[in-house]
Amino acid sequence: IPKEFHEALPILQKIESAGYEAYFVGGSVRDTILKRPIHDVDIATSAYPSEVKALFKRTVDTGIEHGTVMILDHGTGYEVTTFRTESGYQDYRRPDKVTFVRSLKEDLKRRDFTINALALAENGQVTDLFGGLEDMKKRIIRAVGDPNERFNEDALRMMRAVRFASQLDFKIEDETLAGISKHSELLEKIAVERSHTEFVKMMLGVDAENGLNIMLETNLYQHVPVLGQYLPQLQQIVASKFELTNEVQVWSLLAFRFGFSSKQISTFLKKWKTANKIINDVILTVELLFAIQRNDVTNLTLYHVGCSNVDNAIAVMADHSKTANLPERYNQLPIKNKKQLQITGGVLIKKGVLKPSPQLGKVLDYLEQNVVAGKIANHQDELVKAAVNFLNED
Ligand code: ATP
Ligand code: MG
Repeated sequence: IPKEFHEALPILQKIESAGYEAYFVGGSVRDTILKRPIHDVDIATSAYPSEVKALFKRTVDTGIEHGTVMILDHGTGYEVTTFRTESGYQDYRRPDKVTFVRSLKEDLKRRDFTINALALAENGQVTDLFGGLEDMKKRIIRAVGDPNERFNEDALRMMRAVRFASQLDFKIEDETLAGISKHSELLEKIAVERSHTEFVKMMLGVDAENGLNIMLETNLYQHVPVLGQYLPQLQQIVASKFELTNEVQVWSLLAFRFGFSSKQISTFLKKWKTANKIINDVILTVELLFAIQRNDVTNLTLYHVGCSNVDNAIAVMADHSKTANLPERYNQLPIKNKKQLQITGGVLIKKGVLKPSPQLGKVLDYLEQNVVAGKIANHQDELVKAAVNFLNED
């Protein structure tokens, strides 16, 4: 039993000694049984939120309307959620109504997949009402209950199925898979942000090629932003094998294979509601990828793209013969950023090279670029001399 559970045991014990039931549930139980590392520990209980709050000194109402209270304990927060059922999914996403119940069974029934519907008691006993343990052995993702109903209730579950298939290297059970094919268009009802999260997790999974392939075979790809128009390119990506470690790499791979310009990347990723910082990094990474492809990587490109995006481009580029020397080349750049330039605007003014003016920025850019290109040494005297020459030529 992992230390995360150990540390949370007193919380379970306290709830139970007050006469309620409490269990570990969800991803942490699944991952422990699969011997995977766990992150957040979720607790489910028969106690109502007000009853949970009455038991602990320090709590926060993190999701009180759907029954979640966070218990603060020695710097760790534990989410404790009251057993609940959900009803009236009128818009194919999120229930209109949650009802708190006292029965563990009802709570497990509303969960998405059998492997996610296990409860672990304080004594180590596992409650498995839908064959989740068996499915784990067979390495399959199976909807709890009728997949058609379940995907109608909440279409995001289709993306979650694909994401788990990729992360766990599992297959999706036949009827569950048929349910996804049948209802793929319902994914359009889901907020893009939610599909986004699942899509990125899927692309970062150990079996992402399989995950992406399932999106193609079930037509899910037609119901997320932009991908629908790029079937041949997506098929090539599926066939090419890739191994990515962050979101920038995910979008860079797609944008590079789609042949996108910076402007197209921006449009593409805004449709996916991607953070601006990520969009900027993708633009830089893809710029370098095209330069690598053309065998035209200059020091200036490496400098401008920056260390982490050089790494990102290397991770995305399938042909490693073209990238083998890039880390070394990057490390040997005379400077890595503007701060390392041995001159400032202040020094140029003090030395009387020029007065404060818009010209100053132009001179500094000129010096920076030529130091990076190895044409001017990064020493103050040299830089002052070069600045004077530049101004005379101008
Ligand atoms: P991760 O390891 O990525 O956190 P997880 O299975 O814990 O995976 P969460 O989104 O944290 O995923 O959800 C916790 C649990 O809540 C799931 O294991 C599942 O039982 C239930 N759950 C989450 N989302 C849904 C959903 N859309 N429909 C039904 N049950 C869900
Ligand atoms: Mg979780």
